[in-house]
Amino acid sequence: MTTLLRQNCLNHPSREASARCIGCHVFFCRECVSEHQGVMICAPCLAQQSSPTPRLQQSWLPSLLGWLTALLSLLFLWLIAFSLGRFLGTLPHSFQEQLPP
Ligand SMILES: [Zn+2]
Ligand SMILES: [Zn+2]
Repeated sequence: MTTLLRQNCLNHPSREASARCIGCHVFFCRECVSEHQGVMICAPCLAQQSSPTPRLQQSWLPSLLGWLTALLSLLFLWLIAFSLGRFLGTLPHSFQEQLPP
């Protein structure tokens, strides 16, 4: 513990470090580290530890949903264009049929 007393906090140079982060091995004061699962860890390392796995799992899902939405909207647009084309194609005939000679 003698080496700890000589170190100062990275965020607070005037304060003596009381703990060393297990993630980045940097000395911090008691205020800058928090106990997480029995080990002392700083806030940035804690955020890095807890975030990467969900991010990797979620990364492919929005793109897949985006592709599906794009495909569906394309299909929808094609259906509208197709039905509109059919409607416009049949319109003159029906008009001609309905018009009196
Ligand atoms: Zn750290
Ligand atoms: Zn500090």
